[in-house]
Amino acid sequence: MIGIIKKSLILSLFALIFVICLSFNLSAAEKKHLVVIDPAHGGQDVGVKLTDKIGEKEITLAIALAMQKELAGENNIEVVLTRNSDTNVTIKERKANTLKIKPELFLSLHINAGFGKEANGFELYYPGFKELQENKKAAKISPKNKKNKYLNDSVRLANFIQKNMDALFPRKGRGLREADVPIMEGMTIPALVVEMGFASNSEDKKKLLSPDTQTEIAKALAKSIILFYR
Ligand SMILES: [Zn+2]
Repeated sequence: MIGIIKKSLILSLFALIFVICLSFNLSAAEKKHLVVIDPAHGGQDVGVKLTDKIGEKEITLAIALAMQKELAGENNIEVVLTRNSDTNVTIKERKANTLKIKPELFLSLHINAGFGKEANGFELYYPGFKELQENKKAAKISPKNKKNKYLNDSVRLANFIQKNMDALFPRKGRGLREADVPIMEGMTIPALVVEMGFASNSEDKKKLLSPDTQTEIAKALAKSIILFYR
């Protein structure tokens, strides 16, 4: 008798564990990380010019759309773009729309120019990076601190991007830099600006204009986001 009770107890325990595991799996599948990708410029705002006809706005959009396509197969990631076509959307509107949908991650795509014709490579910006470095120096980092958490996560994502972009632009990484980025001011989520290369450098320009390289950049960035959420 006791043996039967024991058996049924063990069986119901297994059943319970099974149900718990199943519901955990289901909630994991339902929970999607909402990622906002911002193809900078658009409409009358061309951004930096690569040729007479092609500006930064075309390339940022092409890469953002390719990233969205690349990430469509990931069942834990959902991508929203700040624009899906060649339209004028102000920075204020992009920011308001982004804050409204409460994403977990924000990535803004740009193309660099200037610093002479020699300047080349990709660059990553985060507005609070300097602050993070100072905090680190002062050993004030606390995992409970929400601000440090999203700063740390931005750096973690930046590391993945640097590694994956480095495969496309070997030794061309210009590092993670701090800058005043109005669109990211006040965002309390991991956020980065990716300057994907220099329109003013002939080698970078050639790469950025190539649809194949655009796809490769999109894949490198998408892969970084997948790794970030793994
Ligand atoms: Zn730009």
